[in-house]
Amino acid sequence: MKVQLEHPVDEIKRLQRCMNDLVSLLALPAMWSGSKPSDIVPTLLDSLLRMLDLDFVYVSLTNLSLTNMVDAAPSETVRVARGSQEHQSQEQMFRPRELCAFLNRWLGDNPQKPYLQERSRIGGEEVSLVSWPLGVQREIGVMAAGSRRVEFPRDTDTLLLGIAANQAVIGLQQAQLLTEQKRVADELDQSVVQRTAELAAANEVLRREVAERRRAEEALAAGKRNLRLIVEGIPGFVALLTPDGSVELVNPQLVEYTGRTLEELRLWGTSDTIHADDLPRVVQLFTQSITSGNPYDFEARIRRFDGVYRWFQVRGLPVRDADGRILRWCSLLTDIDERKRAEDALKRSEAFLAEGQRLSRMGCCCWGVETGEFTWSEELHRIFGFELDVPVTFDLIASRVHPEDIPLLNDMVEKARGAVTDFEYEYRLLMPDDSVKYLHMIAHGIRDNDGRLEYIGAVQDVTQRQISEEALAKARSELQHVASVTSLATLTASIAHEVNQPLSGIVTNAGTCLRMLTLDPPNVDGARETARRTIRDGNRASDVITRLRALFSKKHTLADPVDLNDATREVIALSLSEIQRNRVILRCELADDLPLVRGDRVQLQQVILNLLRNASDAMNTVHDRPRELLIRTELYEGDQALLSVRDAGLGYDPQIAERLFETFYTTKNDGMGVGLSVSRSIIESHQGRLWAKLNDGPGATFSFSIPRGPDGATGAESNHDMRMPADTDAY
Ligand code: ADP
Repeated sequence: MKVQLEHPVDEIKRLQRCMNDLVSLLALPAMWSGSKPSDIVPTLLDSLLRMLDLDFVYVSLTNLSLTNMVDAAPSETVRVARGSQEHQSQEQMFRPRELCAFLNRWLGDNPQKPYLQERSRIGGEEVSLVSWPLGVQREIGVMAAGSRRVEFPRDTDTLLLGIAANQAVIGLQQAQLLTEQKRVADELDQSVVQRTAELAAANEVLRREVAERRRAEEALAAGKRNLRLIVEGIPGFVALLTPDGSVELVNPQLVEYTGRTLEELRLWGTSDTIHADDLPRVVQLFTQSITSGNPYDFEARIRRFDGVYRWFQVRGLPVRDADGRILRWCSLLTDIDERKRAEDALKRSEAFLAEGQRLSRMGCCCWGVETGEFTWSEELHRIFGFELDVPVTFDLIASRVHPEDIPLLNDMVEKARGAVTDFEYEYRLLMPDDSVKYLHMIAHGIRDNDGRLEYIGAVQDVTQRQISEEALAKARSELQHVASVTSLATLTASIAHEVNQPLSGIVTNAGTCLRMLTLDPPNVDGARETARRTIRDGNRASDVITRLRALFSKKHTLADPVDLNDATREVIALSLSEIQRNRVILRCELADDLPLVRGDRVQLQQVILNLLRNASDAMNTVHDRPRELLIRTELYEGDQALLSVRDAGLGYDPQIAERLFETFYTTKNDGMGVGLSVSRSIIESHQGRLWAKLNDGPGATFSFSIPRGPDGATGAESNHDMRMPADTDAY
């Protein structure tokens, strides 16, 4: 290539222009300050194209950090001079895409050859090519320029290209640095923004939590206030407990009742707040509930402020949250003292009633006529021999009523259904074991609240009474006989008078007769007459005696073993109503070891009866002290049975003690005065003794003793020829 020397003026101009270009190039970094690599490369290329009169200029960036960035310059950039493009063929030759491909190949990728220069043919034109590394070993990239000018590159071109390359490197590095800083700053900003957002979010969450907690605390406080108000407003005794059972709150009523503070009430398990007898049971039940979470309900005595314990019903319920956790226990204490006492009284009275029914063998029943319902007491079930759980029906009742009394039952039912009435019936039951029970029933008809007819009845098992009455009737008939014997004593007395008359008549007549016979001449007719009168009087006396004997027709002798205790009990049963009528308080002390006596039970009972009646009579006029009467039996002098009747009556004059036993001695207006004499003769006929003794205090004691026989019976056994009192001399 031929280098043309320029004219000095031109040369100067060229150099001036070079200088200008150089200044422009040096000013580029200032222009690029703050620019991005993508802005640097085009300005660089445009400046070079313009300054060096090039046909094209090209930059390829290899530094990844520059090319990979989002806004980095493209890896290859080419600028083709405008004048060249206008030319059709040149335009074809320097088409950027092909040009890039060509330069790429030409530059190669050998960093050891940073500077290349050659004249080459591109698109049919001779072009001077020159390359310039960006960075010592193309670390940043490579720059290439081409010109058809043969003298290209001149030294000014090389200078400018070198400086441009350096400036580009500086600019790109700064841009890279800046970009990197920007990226870091952006990243920092980003992370600051993110962190700020996170912090803001966390702050918001915290704020919400705090607000939430405050609201919850306020709600809790309000809840507690409300709870306290509610608890205080409840007209009863209330305690709130923590989930583990400690007392948390009690209402003022409870504090007032117990006279204890909340602190003191917290120690209820070890204090005397709960009655010592109830405490172990209460602690056990309470602990079970707290452990299991089940409600508790018990009754216990709780101490009042003044030390009095009253019965309470204590009920506790767990209050749970939505998850079922126990928040607290709510305890309600109800004073049930009066109810409890009433219940106890009711239980007692029911027990009394049941016991009374059992003892009196009396059952109660209620019969709803229209409903056909029966309500029976336990005792009535027992009387009928029905199980308690068997429903009572008419058929069931009829199955137990004695067949002969079924008409009675029907009659009763008919009457009861007819009208509201009261009725009384006696009927019998035929029990499964063929025994017979006698029942006495009284019923009272009423209308209930709904106007329905019902009967309330009492049914008494009078079997024992029936049996006793039968025995009593028998005993009465026997005693009646003895009574007639007693009245015989009266009779005997009058007969004695009667007998006395004919006897004195006989004596008188016999005397008259003797006197008449001793007359001279004897008065035979008179004597005969008087003898006849004597016979008549004798017959009269004999008749009296015969009549007397006839009255004592039941004069067989008895010598049976007699239990004086039993005999006494029977006499008491017989005369009890009379004794009670006289307001006499009777006491019995009957010895267990009393020996049996042998004799006539009925006669001995007559003696006891006499002594009882006399004792009761002796207290008739006593008003200033209890009319006490004591009947005692005891073992006497080792082998005798002794019975004594002690009264608190007026007693008797000791001077005439023995006269009491005389026949016809009496101090009573309606007395006969034979009771004691007959009694003594009866006792003596049993080989015994009857005597009277004044008490230390008021009244007298009449006693008799009878020896027992060799085999435990009385001495009467040895006298089988025991005679009735009427046959004895005592009469
Ligand atoms: P009566 O009872 O008919 O009088 P008693 O022969 O039984 O006949 O009694 C005779 C009398 O003995 C009584 O009238 C009474 O004066 C007296 N007598 C009997 N028992 C007592 C007695 N317990 N206390 C006082 N005097 C008694």
